[in-house]
Amino acid sequence: MSKIVFFCIPAYGHTNPTLGVVRELVRRGHEVRYYSYQPFREQIEAAGAEFVPCDAYDAERSLSPRDVVRVGKDMAFSTRLLVDTTLALDDMVCSEMERLKPDCIVADSMAVWGKAVAWKLGIPFVSSTTTFAFNRQSAQIMKHGLGEMMGMILSMPKINRDIKRLQDHGYPVKSILDILQNDEHTDTIVYTSPQFQPCSETFSDKYAFVGPSVRPASTSVEKNGDKLVYLSMGTVNNDMLKLYKNCILALGGTDYQVIMSVGELTDREAFGSLPANVSVFAHVDQIAVLEQADVFISHCGMNSVNESLYYGVPLIMYPQTAEQGGVAARVWQLGAGEYLRKNSAPAIRQAVEQVTGNAVYRQKAADIAAGFKNCGGASAAAEKILRVCGRGCLH
Ligand code: UDP
Repeated sequence: MSKIVFFCIPAYGHTNPTLGVVRELVRRGHEVRYYSYQPFREQIEAAGAEFVPCDAYDAERSLSPRDVVRVGKDMAFSTRLLVDTTLALDDMVCSEMERLKPDCIVADSMAVWGKAVAWKLGIPFVSSTTTFAFNRQSAQIMKHGLGEMMGMILSMPKINRDIKRLQDHGYPVKSILDILQNDEHTDTIVYTSPQFQPCSETFSDKYAFVGPSVRPASTSVEKNGDKLVYLSMGTVNNDMLKLYKNCILALGGTDYQVIMSVGELTDREAFGSLPANVSVFAHVDQIAVLEQADVFISHCGMNSVNESLYYGVPLIMYPQTAEQGGVAARVWQLGAGEYLRKNSAPAIRQAVEQVTGNAVYRQKAADIAAGFKNCGGASAAAEKILRVCGRGCLH
């Protein structure tokens, strides 16, 4: 039996794909301990892992709303938060790892503290990447603006000061690149297929493209319209009232059945009384909806896109960040969707008609789905981890 420790950030998109892998490891008789956050406790325990809360150590916990929007956009600020969290967790995690002596640490690519502690204590390490794997070639699809690049260059002195704080605590981190990307020698699980990953042929065989780890639906959705249109902007930045209102304006009173997941932050009272063909929820069982959907209007979070394509559902892409822009660009390159060019009712109506009216989009999505289903899934991810544990895949 191996002892495996997972670290993740507090985000559904990063946690969900790991749950199938945890279930698989536990099913094979291994012990999994998972460092995460209270909102994810139930799911993690249900997958069979021992849950360890990190909420008290999270540097993002006490941010003002003004600072929250800087996360992920302001490089120096984001690095500061990652380093603060790593150092806040340092004592607790290092002493637990020394006591536990895990055979392997599996950390989300953004849970930098997991990778850092593995390096510091010399514990075998696997990176878990829920976005596209990143190298010089694949980075080209995620176009970063000139302003963003300049900001990054100008903030290097601040970033380097934070890297020095890590070094002072015994973390062998040389530069910000060590934090942001994995080199070709790092064992890495990527939750997509080699077909969908841009430039997959440029990655070493340390990378396992295991396909999306799509959880099963836990409910079922009744399809009562000719075509079902699903809209969700994910779970992080989903306070997008104007888009939701435009969608109701565009599709209310038509033959389309419309399901919108708008998040907890959106004031649902603001929609007034809804047309009979439109349902709005704070959160839905997305898999159950996708089993029935004909098109998905999405921010193009990697998980949403993986899940949509897995069910052969073409997309209307409305990305909000550079990373989502990269995912959207790949969907477009492979012909499985169209961009929403403008946040307006006519643009939404036009895009929905175009994508639902042309079977080629659905065929392209089905082709990608076939590629996903050829990957090894949670079982291949578990085998990768067990190989790193030094136990092979013989269980
Ligand atoms: N999700 C869900 N119900 C909802 C909205 C989202 O179950 O109503 C899930 C979705 O299935 C996906 C995750 O939340 O697994 C969103 O991840 P993604 O990477 O798409 O976006 P993020 O929330 O990280 O921006």
